[in-house]
Amino acid sequence: NRRIVLAQRPIGSPTAADFRLEEVPLPELADGQVLLRTLYLSIDPYMRARMSDAPSYAQPVAIDAVMVGATVCRVEASRSSSLAVGDVVLSMNGWQDYAAVSTKGLMKIDASLAPPSYSLGVLGMTGFTAYVGLLDIGQAKEGDTVLVSAATGAVGGTVGQIAKLKGCRAVGIAGGDDKCEYAVNTLGYDACINHYDEDFAEQLAAACPNGVDVYFENVGGNPLMAAIPLLNVGARVALCGIIAWLNGPAPGPIDTAPQIMRALLNKRASVQGFVITDHYATRHADFRRDMSQWVKEGKIHYREDVIEGLERAPFALMGLLRGDNFGKVVVRVEKT
Ligand code: NDP
Repeated sequence: NRRIVLAQRPIGSPTAADFRLEEVPLPELADGQVLLRTLYLSIDPYMRARMSDAPSYAQPVAIDAVMVGATVCRVEASRSSSLAVGDVVLSMNGWQDYAAVSTKGLMKIDASLAPPSYSLGVLGMTGFTAYVGLLDIGQAKEGDTVLVSAATGAVGGTVGQIAKLKGCRAVGIAGGDDKCEYAVNTLGYDACINHYDEDFAEQLAAACPNGVDVYFENVGGNPLMAAIPLLNVGARVALCGIIAWLNGPAPGPIDTAPQIMRALLNKRASVQGFVITDHYATRHADFRRDMSQWVKEGKIHYREDVIEGLERAPFALMGLLRGDNFGKVVVRVEKT
């Protein structure tokens, strides 16, 4: 029974030394509990924030504690009447092979709809983030131009497709020609621009001839600076994430705040940050209904970037924070 704990708090980008792999005995089962075997572990940008003890909306992971994370697990033993051996559930067991947990808060996964790991992505937290961020926070409506950064990622890839389903023009920003090609040809974006291109800002302006009504922000950095001048009067910025700055502020003395604030004022734009955990009570049922339907009908494409083996989870997170991933990052913990 292996587990990966936080060995120390990272300074800047995480390194392998910030994690420690441990062998521990299998947990004992108490009454009402189930023993869960992790099949898949979700790797998400928020994990970088939890490794830090800077003030945040969530508690940091303690030093020597198991790294946090959503998991898809199989019930291996049960002392509860609500789950049987063999059931597959969504849980928050973190970076470990096994855990003994109470059944409260576990969600049984219906494997007939999609592969179980989809519950960590398009049918789970990242899909829900795309749905709420675009429709509620961004207030996207037919005819709008929706601009999405990290356009092929777990959240962004779903945002672009929902935008198209709602009759919007969808423009993506992604890090590479292969990602842009996939955004247009598979996900259905009207255009996608590579933010590594030297004339990125000019290309982006040309791809948004009618400006931008909704900017779905996942990144910060260059994409933000190129998007700001394109905002239309009354534009909405759904502030979902700033992954480019998760390891700390960008180096250098350039202060872009005056430029950004002036543009937001001139465009009477609204910027709304949101945290998806606030929205489960009111919108999760709607999301489940709509997204299950879209996935069943083949209207939403979904790409996973699968990393093999629990021991590689630190590298999966480090890669995600560099933008190495192409699709939703999941670690296959149980080797088949
Ligand atoms: P993704 O699958 O989108 O992966 C992250 C992507 O960010 C990379 O693939 C890369 O795409 C892009 N990126 C651009 N610049 C950088 C950079 N400097 N460093 C690292 N990555 C970069 O991840 P998710 O879909 O899981 O998350 C997307 C965003 O949504 C994150 O900011 C995350 O924190 C946020 N989020 C917010 C939630 C909320 O409740 N507000 C909930 C869930 C996620 P490319 O190569 O195309 O640039």
